[in-house]
Amino acid sequence: MADRVRRKIRVLFAASEAVPFIKTGGLGDVIGSLPREIKQAGAKVAVILPKYSCIPESYQKDMEHIAEFYVPLAWRNVYCGIERLTFDGVDFYFVDNEDYFKRDGSIYGYFDDGERFAFFSKAVCEAMSRVPELNCDVVHCNDWQTALVPVFLREFYRDIDTCADVKVIFTVHNVKFQGQYPDTMLSNVLGLSDIPAAVDQLYSSSETINYMKGALCYSDIIATVSPTYASELQMPFFGEGMDPIFRRRADALVGILNGIDTVAWDPSTDPYIPCNFDAKNPDAKAECKRLLQEELGLAQDPERPLVVMVGRLTNQKGLGLVRYSMSRLMSRGVQIAILGTGDGDQEEAFSYFDSVYGDKMAARITFDNELAHRMYAAGDILLMPSEFEPCGLAQLIAMRYGALPVVRQTGGLKDSVTPYNKFTGEGTGFGFINMNADEMADCLLDACEVFWTEKDKWNQLRWQAMTADFSWKRAADDYLDVYHRLHPEIIRFTKRRD
Ligand code: ADP
Repeated sequence: MADRVRRKIRVLFAASEAVPFIKTGGLGDVIGSLPREIKQAGAKVAVILPKYSCIPESYQKDMEHIAEFYVPLAWRNVYCGIERLTFDGVDFYFVDNEDYFKRDGSIYGYFDDGERFAFFSKAVCEAMSRVPELNCDVVHCNDWQTALVPVFLREFYRDIDTCADVKVIFTVHNVKFQGQYPDTMLSNVLGLSDIPAAVDQLYSSSETINYMKGALCYSDIIATVSPTYASELQMPFFGEGMDPIFRRRADALVGILNGIDTVAWDPSTDPYIPCNFDAKNPDAKAECKRLLQEELGLAQDPERPLVVMVGRLTNQKGLGLVRYSMSRLMSRGVQIAILGTGDGDQEEAFSYFDSVYGDKMAARITFDNELAHRMYAAGDILLMPSEFEPCGLAQLIAMRYGALPVVRQTGGLKDSVTPYNKFTGEGTGFGFINMNADEMADCLLDACEVFWTEKDKWNQLRWQAMTADFSWKRAADDYLDVYHRLHPEIIRFTKRRD
């Protein structure tokens, strides 16, 4: 082993989104919070992102241009600028190339996404080798957009001093999105067609390559966002074709449950909710509920359990079960409020329910962060019957806001929500096991029964949920342990004191 040294381990996060610069889902939340916590836990941390034109001007104007060079992409060299902005104590670096990242509208969904994120991944490697402040011990990649970093690093940069000892950890936030492209990319963009090992590990089926498959083969550690999802990924039902690799690499696979930003999501200070409350003084939650019922055109009745749902309207979220059970739930006096956007058929179905169920059901088909805050604050119950859920943030937020989650016990939902045990009183929510609409509705109505008839028990459960610890501290410590396992020669600089 190399001589032991005592210094902060240097970690570079590579990702395609981070709050507050850009967010389309949970990944943005994670990269907005985790690096800061890992820094506090005792590492030297930097984050590298694409410089999208839709990053708010208020951030762009403060970015400092620190380097520029050309990135080799197969037969051509492509311009890359590196800009820096320190935010909340963390150094963020932005990869600038207007051809790739100056686009109208969304950050994903373009015909050349495969090339855009191959460029980004190569630019990350190039920056690590050329920009001294981006030298690191560990590069922590996230999802398919950065999946080629470990492939490029091993194939093109291993002879460069500053890259030779860099270890790679790749976190799978959702295995459904893998980055699959025609194999012509190997010669046209990636420049890997003459390297048999790389070709072999990137090929997924005839004429198709798979970026995530590359990362799963080349990374030193594969992480995912909950322990249960780490087990599930090894099964064909959840693995989306990658399960044989997850099984083969089980020794390198770790599951670390995400946390939430407990400052941004704090009902005692939240500026977006009409009345603040906390676990000790939850009474104002009733007024949040009344005001949301009024806002959404729902009956203003405190005795109606208000069930909220916030999230993408896609099949992953188990919406078929909710659609199937809707009339049964409505006939039992449950109120449902749903906020989300997604697949057209799901949006139409919930808009239809909104129109037929009058003051019992409301659907808001939009992305509205402030309304999301009001919904968590008002809800008695959060419904999340996901088919699969790598971690899930909505249930963590809901617990903090005293909306008890009713979840299917899969992935991070299983790891974060303790189902109510009527004999011991334990629990922070309610759980069911099978993808079955009647089982979901039974579970939800059991929860309503406690809400209606056993107020003391309900309040006790709510207290338990609101005081559960879902801060990032635990996850940050776990990641830091993983980084140090990859570099046993670096003695841990500090240990968290609390
Ligand atoms: P996923 O990452 O699968 O989309 P998560 O539950 O992990 O789901 O994270 C979703 C995040 O996005 C949560 O913070 C949730 O509150 C937020 N969110 C999802 N849809 C909406 C919406 N329509 N309006 C506001 N916030 C939303």
